Amino acid sequence: MSMHLHEGASFDYVVVGAGAAGSAVAARIAEKGGHSVALIEAGRDDPWIWLKIPLGIGIVLTGERAVRRYWTEPEPNLASRKVYWPRGRVLGGTSTINGMLWVRGDPAEYDRWADMGCTGWDFDSLLPRFRRMESCSLGSDTLRGRTGKTCVVEYSPRDPLSLAFFKACTEAGFAANDDYNGERYEGVGYLQLNTRRGLRHGVREAYLRSLGGNRNLTLLCDTTVESIAIENRRAASVRVRCNGVARTIACRREVILAAGAIDTPKILEHSGIGNPDRLQGMGIEPVHALRGVGEGLRDHLHTRLSFRCRSVVTLNDIMRSPARKVLFGLRYLFSRNGFLSSSTATVHALVRSAPGKARPDVKLQMHPLSSTDARNPDRWELDTFSGFGIGTFPLRPASTGSVHVASPDPREPPRIRPNYLDHPEDLACAIAAVRLARRVAAQPALAGLVDEEVRPGTDAQSDEEIAAFIRETGTTSYHPVGTCRMGVDAMAVVNPQLRVVGLEGLRVADASVFPTMPSSNTHAPSILVGEIAASLVNSR
Ligand SMILES: Cc1cc2nc3c(=O)[nH]c(=O)nc-3n(C[C@H](O)[C@H](O)[C@H](O)COP(=O)(O)OP(=O)(O)OC[C@H]3O[C@@H](n4cnc5c(N)ncnc54)[C@H](O)[C@@H]3O)c2cc1C
Repeated sequence: MSMHLHEGASFDYVVVGAGAAGSAVAARIAEKGGHSVALIEAGRDDPWIWLKIPLGIGIVLTGERAVRRYWTEPEPNLASRKVYWPRGRVLGGTSTINGMLWVRGDPAEYDRWADMGCTGWDFDSLLPRFRRMESCSLGSDTLRGRTGKTCVVEYSPRDPLSLAFFKACTEAGFAANDDYNGERYEGVGYLQLNTRRGLRHGVREAYLRSLGGNRNLTLLCDTTVESIAIENRRAASVRVRCNGVARTIACRREVILAAGAIDTPKILEHSGIGNPDRLQGMGIEPVHALRGVGEGLRDHLHTRLSFRCRSVVTLNDIMRSPARKVLFGLRYLFSRNGFLSSSTATVHALVRSAPGKARPDVKLQMHPLSSTDARNPDRWELDTFSGFGIGTFPLRPASTGSVHVASPDPREPPRIRPNYLDHPEDLACAIAAVRLARRVAAQPALAGLVDEEVRPGTDAQSDEEIAAFIRETGTTSYHPVGTCRMGVDAMAVVNPQLRVVGLEGLRVADASVFPTMPSSNTHAPSILVGEIAASLVNSR
């Protein structure tokens, strides 16, 4: 499947980026047969054990081995802080380093996409595809997939903190939901994870490894695409850099960009595709005007409350006791469950911030650990006391930002401006979410475990005080989307068939095409985009 690159190589299809969406596109085209596919990935195929054991995410995210460490520009509404934005740079992309929470999303939001002109993206049309993606034993046969590529299981066993959080949510008035990927999205439920026998089951495992020695697919790792060459309004080849050497790979049918919401717009701009004024100002010759490239960025701003816990039931307790660590490790080895089989989140509640809201607009999430400073990966440390956190974020941020090249040199990182809290509704919703988390913590089922609220602490009561906490500590939930938005309006970068508007032989298939935030988490929707792109290509 892998090969070394030589000048003059050419393929029918060139897929850029072996992440969540790119791996799905490339695998499905190769599986169909009849065409050659090159899957080009900047990272390597890394057998590192911490990319397989779910809790390894803590180690992976603080290093650089499998991660590209992006930072945003100073954020005007977050006390001018730069926010750490890691992305997977490894075979499988961010799917190989993420939290593995399997969340399809809010059906009503997909219906909204269809109403915005994205024909075919309504939830009823997407449901068969979601089912085809997964293999799980949860929920009903008509709504869940039983034989798809990605294994999905529910977090288990039910540890005391997760049980208490779940019950407290119901005491606070939120409905219990035994399958948020099924009949209903709203409510409190145990998280579903894409793991298999306690190990990560991301796209690397589900789509690429399962292909075996498929001869249609050529995997080019450690190879970075710098730009696309457009000839007669058609994507003709990609310019890559491999081991410091520049090469060109020709493409006979289509280039499919799947480098993620940060790198896809960057590659387009380096190819001269974007806002001509911006490109000229950067010393890049405009080739095709598309003003939406790099605009429309959205992300979830995550605010986490921490509590000192009365019982020795947190991950903090396990990690600071060598004896407990050994027991914990042995238990995982034998049963393949428990905290090591998850990425630290165990239960979530998708709820309405106020009774008048038409659908859930806030997420609350139990983390059975607490840390000193979640903002900087070089300072992440667990608290020395028994602690847990409740993470919160508004589900459908209205604020939008941008990603644009910062230099004519493709090796330079782009400028990322999320523009968190630019829209007043987002701040109001984030404050309401913090208040809801406190309401849950005060319910009988959880209150008995809470010694004190450590962050922000009970002194922060007014909207202004809570807002100050959000601005000082809020960080990414790692879900950037929307920078090459799909649509039918003047700012759309791709049409509903994922073709770059005005050009031939070029599609975008990754989280950058989402018109809005579809879900509380973006992995399953990104694979979905890859699946859809492959069907569109395969039905040509
Ligand atoms: C820490 C973290 C935790 C997360 N947890 C969850 C979760 O629990 N559940 C969930 O639903 N979502 C989660 N997400 C988000 C989710 O994983 C992403 O939304 C999803 O992977 C995006 O898919 P993608 O295909 O758009 O991009 P990616 O998966 O990021 O793939 C892009 C690929 O392109 C490659 N690439 C980039 N530039 C180039 C180039 N120039 N040349 C060649 N290759 C290139 C990258 O190396 C990467 O492999 C998390 C994200 C992070 C960072």
